Amino acid sequence: MQKRILHRSAAALAALTLGAGLTACSSDSTLNDAPPTDPTNIIATTSVWADVASAVTGKEVPAIISGQSIDPHTYEATAADLAKIREAGTVVANGGHYDADLYRVAEQDRIIHAIPLSGEDHDHEHAHDEHDHEHGHDHDHGHDHGHDHGHNFTEIPTDINDLEHIWLAPGKVKEVADAVAKRTGGDASEVDRRMDAITEKLNAMPHVHLAMTEPIAAPMIWGTELHDLTPEKYLLTTLNESEPSAGEVAEFLELIDSGILDFLVVNSQSTNNATQRLKEAAEKKNLPIVEINETPPTDMDFLDYFEQIVDEVQKIVDEADPRTDAQLGNFAG
Ligand SMILES: [Zn+2]
Repeated sequence: MQKRILHRSAAALAALTLGAGLTACSSDSTLNDAPPTDPTNIIATTSVWADVASAVTGKEVPAIISGQSIDPHTYEATAADLAKIREAGTVVANGGHYDADLYRVAEQDRIIHAIPLSGEDHDHEHAHDEHDHEHGHDHDHGHDHGHDHGHNFTEIPTDINDLEHIWLAPGKVKEVADAVAKRTGGDASEVDRRMDAITEKLNAMPHVHLAMTEPIAAPMIWGTELHDLTPEKYLLTTLNESEPSAGEVAEFLELIDSGILDFLVVNSQSTNNATQRLKEAAEKKNLPIVEINETPPTDMDFLDYFEQIVDEVQKIVDEADPRTDAQLGNFAG
């Protein structure tokens, strides 16, 4: 509702004018094999990153994936999608495995991304060997690196760059906005201001307890007092995009039933029988539920959506009567 019209910078306008001749008939890529040169010809992989780029450039940046009927995790890129990515001067992407099927057709120097690109030298196991947690190693370490969706978390991520839903990290949104401004012109200050306000709110929240049917809010609560008690085995299963086992669901149901949670985060764009049961258990228990989707509703700007989520959490936190960690008993995470 607050889509802002920002002024195009003179540089962006000049570049647009220069590039106009090249982009006019570019839908047939066979006619033009030269690499795209106009950085202000921007495309984003998802509507989230398109909204961030739009807020910086002041013009409507198109997205390949938008609307809430599609789960970006399972989106299959079409030939037309890939053609658009190939032709864009700048591709604004999430990074990681999340949208790798789309951005992989662009050269890396054209891609602005929030987390390392899949295939860059960034290995999950690597960082994990160095710390001393004693987690149960249910998954073995020899995995299929040839597979494109190489989710193989054997421990809870300790690096924010391992979190795929990274648009809910205000600092990462700022980084992308700043990179867009630098590459294509425009003004990132409004995005920066709004993300700083979100960070300030999140950092001021008291120590409360939550759990998530899918770790979508992990980047948002990173480094805050919002304490995630999602049972570890369940969490690892969802990180690896598998269906949780009956035992994992039972453990989670027990946590909900214990009454120690202050709210439950549900990703309604990524549901299965297990998440449905958990949601119903929370409703039965009158546990507040925060629904967070992969992409904002079609008519809503992502920045507004992010602020709305944080305000919703703020309201719950303000009314919560949280336990201390000493009172968590077996559920201490
Ligand atoms: Zn706690």
